[in-house]
Amino acid sequence: MFFSFIKQIELTVFSIAKTFGKLKWFLPVMWILLLCGCGQGTFRVSRTDTGMGTVIQMQLFGTEESQSVSEKLFYMIDEMEGQEISWRYPNSLVGRINQGQQGVSLNAELYETLLACKEISVASEGAFDITIGKLTRLWDIDSYSQTGNMQYVLPEKKAIEEACKESGYFYLEVKNQTATLTSPIQIDLGAVGKGIALDRILNVLEEADGTVYGGVISLGGSILTYGDKQDGTPWQVGIVDPFDTDKCLGVLKLFGQWCISTSGDYERYVEVDGVRYHHILDPRTGYPANSGVRSVTILSKSGFLSDALSTACYVLGVEKGMELAQKYQAEALFVDSEGKQYLSEGMKKFFCL
Ligand code: ADP
Ligand code: MG
Repeated sequence: MFFSFIKQIELTVFSIAKTFGKLKWFLPVMWILLLCGCGQGTFRVSRTDTGMGTVIQMQLFGTEESQSVSEKLFYMIDEMEGQEISWRYPNSLVGRINQGQQGVSLNAELYETLLACKEISVASEGAFDITIGKLTRLWDIDSYSQTGNMQYVLPEKKAIEEACKESGYFYLEVKNQTATLTSPIQIDLGAVGKGIALDRILNVLEEADGTVYGGVISLGGSILTYGDKQDGTPWQVGIVDPFDTDKCLGVLKLFGQWCISTSGDYERYVEVDGVRYHHILDPRTGYPANSGVRSVTILSKSGFLSDALSTACYVLGVEKGMELAQKYQAEALFVDSEGKQYLSEGMKKFFCL
């Protein structure tokens, strides 16, 4: 019964992927199992769209005004991407920092985010670094895996070494509500963008003051659960098996508000001569991270932390990654290249087969 239900979800997710023709690279990073417990008189909003280079799925339960809250959320995600965090928009705040403008004024949220990114870089000893924009563009795996039809040419060793040198979080100065690059490096917030969006979505839902009773929002591999289901059962978030992305390893059963992010080598990658090159890079080597891990899922109250830590822990590997997650009171589930699973003590309480 359980697996036939999974199959249904799988079909839904793949049909969504198909609907968004250009996004056929999209794979179900996590499945949300909405065994909907929508009470009588409760209004339900269900919407799927694209944004932040991924598929956004939103399910909200509440009063009729939930509809306008969902519209506000999609609008906010678009605005945040275009005006603040995407390097692809030259006039966004990150775009302006990348152009070398001095002392770019930041809003309070982005200011805190950039400070927090620097902190995670220090805590992960450079395994996480948002200033590797030159490297991510050189590898350009995101673009390749989105279009899938161009001939992929591996970057040259010398170019990788150059781009590696032209990165470093210590070159990003964040102070007095401003940001400045002290060397010609490039910022790429790809590792935290979806997590930041989840935090902002959470703020809007809380400010909507009882309009939304509960819901689940997924931005690709990052998911927010909010409130509770009316029938008292937990939210269920399926964790994809990195060895067979048609299958789930198990589900996280969650009550109330949580953020869940997964980073895996099966999300965006290219294969050249039988070797897989994925999109999570080790800033210290300039190459795709090779820490013996296939996927990392992080559970945290904070969207930023779940997203930043999933990337950082992927690069660090099981042992150091576990330590880092613990430092931030986040729960972790690692799957290594042999298929062995490693769960933090807290994660064991939520993970069910
Ligand atoms: P996804 O966004 O696909 O869910 P991640 O959250 O792990 O996966 O973020 C991967 C993205 O983060 C890459 O596409 C790239 O833009 C950026 N990135 C890759 N490696 C690192 C790293 N070591 N530190 C910070 N950002 C990274
Ligand atoms: Mg991440």
